[in-house]
Amino acid sequence: MAINIYIDPDKCVGCKLCLGACPYGAIVVEEGKARFTEACVLCGACVSSCKFGAIIWEQPKKEEVDTSQYQGVWVIAETHDGRLAEVTLELLGEGRKLADTLDEPLSLLLLGNGVEPLASVAGHYGADRVYLVEDEVLAHYRTAPFTDVAVGLINKYKPSIVLIGATSMGRDLGPRIAARIGAGLTADCTGLEIDPQERLLRQTRPAFGGNIMATILCRHARPQMATVRPKVMKKLDPDPGRQVEIVREQVSLNEKTIVTKIVEIVREEGDEQVNLQDAEIIVSGGRGLRAAENFALIRELADVLGAAVGASRATVDAGWIPAYHQVGQTGKTVQPKLYIACGISGAVQHLAGMSSSDCIVAINSDPNAPIFDVATYGIVGDLFEVVPALTKALKREFGQQ
Ligand SMILES: Cc1cc2nc3c(=O)[nH]c(=O)nc-3n(C[C@H](O)[C@H](O)[C@H](O)COP(=O)(O)OP(=O)(O)OC[C@H]3O[C@@H](n4cnc5c(N)ncnc54)[C@H](O)[C@@H]3O)c2cc1C
Repeated sequence: MAINIYIDPDKCVGCKLCLGACPYGAIVVEEGKARFTEACVLCGACVSSCKFGAIIWEQPKKEEVDTSQYQGVWVIAETHDGRLAEVTLELLGEGRKLADTLDEPLSLLLLGNGVEPLASVAGHYGADRVYLVEDEVLAHYRTAPFTDVAVGLINKYKPSIVLIGATSMGRDLGPRIAARIGAGLTADCTGLEIDPQERLLRQTRPAFGGNIMATILCRHARPQMATVRPKVMKKLDPDPGRQVEIVREQVSLNEKTIVTKIVEIVREEGDEQVNLQDAEIIVSGGRGLRAAENFALIRELADVLGAAVGASRATVDAGWIPAYHQVGQTGKTVQPKLYIACGISGAVQHLAGMSSSDCIVAINSDPNAPIFDVATYGIVGDLFEVVPALTKALKREFGQQ
């Protein structure tokens, strides 16, 4: 049955309450009765405005999913240059905890070409089983074949939970799989746990610009799908003695039917290609720097420490530094051993990306700046004095002058 909406003329009293409820101005009242015009998009926004039950909105019934048929935790693998991406290892670590709580297996869905050696690596990092699909067509990530294969195997094996990295690949693939199989998806989760009573996945993520944490449950659809950013979860220490079961799956993929082709892979090179997420030390600059050229102070300190340069969104928005340096909710999530925040206030959206760093040093002239709430060491002072002095002292310490 398709969606349908109509007004029951016997119940409509022509009160016009529904007119204000329609965002599309698609209702008119003529001769004491309301009627829909062609502008109606069947959104149903008017239904609850009618006190007389005159607006009838018919929707197709969603098929009930038998959730008891779904079992196990899956991670969808991302690979780069013949290695499992760090985020995949982190998700295996988190998936292991979820699977142990549920007493169900943890599996990795591994798609690629020549990736079989990675199956044992997945075992070392916690996977019980690897569903392996190898095909030339899957040599590099492309939306269509990866979606087709993943959807087919999810429908076949019915995992209860599917986790994907919130990377460029995962953010493309996850929603497509979810849409295809009629499941929901919670993006950018920062916390995952199993509800002890209902055995449902509690998916926690920042909402409303990071001002609240929302915990989302998926009661009726399966699998429960979530994406998680790199560096949010912790990978396990590898156990080389851990065995993994490999389930090989055959698929029939035809290159000719796939509309996207990889013509060339171009890597960003040079100083600006900072891998913030792998950096052990990050020196970040904020609006307190006052101008783009003052990032030179940050770079100089970073050079002495062998650190990567990070930035707040305010500086990126101001065009002082490219976006790939941005740390935070809409930038990168980082977890270095040392994070030095210079002239950064510590807005929740910035903290969301760096507050789990091992040691945080904050330099800010305002003693009430929120960054000091998360800082391990705080220096209340003018960054234009403190940062050069720190750089100088470190250079002396490291024998660089
Ligand atoms: C949906 C959403 C997503 C967002 N995502 C992100 C994100 O991913 N990352 C992010 O960073 N922000 C993000 N923001 C923006 C965030 O809310 C803040 O606006 C931003 O982090 C502020 O950057 P800042 O700390 O550099 O600037 P400000 O808040 O202006 O802070 C500047 C700080 O510098 C200090 N200062 C000034 N002069 C000196 C000096 N001479 N010496 C020392 N200290 C000095 C000041 O005391 C102040 O604390 C997001 C916002 C929204 C709404």
